[in-house]
Amino acid sequence: MPLHVLHHPLADHVLTHLRDQTTKPVLFRTLSYQISLLLALEATRDLATVEKPISTPLEQFTGRVLDKSIAIVPILRAGLGMVQPFLDLFPDVSVGYVGLERDHTTAIARSYYCKLPPLEGKRVFVIDPMLATGGSAAQALDVVKAAGAKELGYLCIVASPEGVAVLQKAHPEVPIYAGAVDRALNAKKYILPGLGDFGDRLYGT
Ligand code: URA
Repeated sequence: MPLHVLHHPLADHVLTHLRDQTTKPVLFRTLSYQISLLLALEATRDLATVEKPISTPLEQFTGRVLDKSIAIVPILRAGLGMVQPFLDLFPDVSVGYVGLERDHTTAIARSYYCKLPPLEGKRVFVIDPMLATGGSAAQALDVVKAAGAKELGYLCIVASPEGVAVLQKAHPEVPIYAGAVDRALNAKKYILPGLGDFGDRLYGT
């Protein structure tokens, strides 16, 4: 399945300010909203629509409306920074949560929370800003598939080449939507050049 990388001057602009270490949490949250909105639009380009006859104030018209509900599943906690644009854009969105925490010494994810709405028949987007090792991304997709999700997408703001490869191997049919694909992971499994710890920068921790 393809890897979709944002190509838009606004995406470059927003990403540069997100990466800047002098960007404070209040601006970081706004920038996260903006890049996530661009990603949400990119990932939903092919959502199915159906005809809907309506009357304008002047005449009859057959328009089109969304045919399917969508669900988003942010990976806690950093994924929360990408939720709001989906709530603002999509009328019937439901939100589930998967809590995965990275052990800072082993870089292996541990699940500590999972609450999902019904996922059958919905387009389901797993969202997490940093696709680093790909371990937690693959694990979260396992969880939503086990809960019945079939039409899936994965959204991140910054991906590493390693994370993309791991995710494509584990879930080859799932399209990945990324704001940027960076150079590499460092020894502590942070993305380079990256933007540091997304959750810490989002919440000022
Ligand atoms: N998680 C982050 O927040 N940043 C990284 O660079 C990698 C994982």
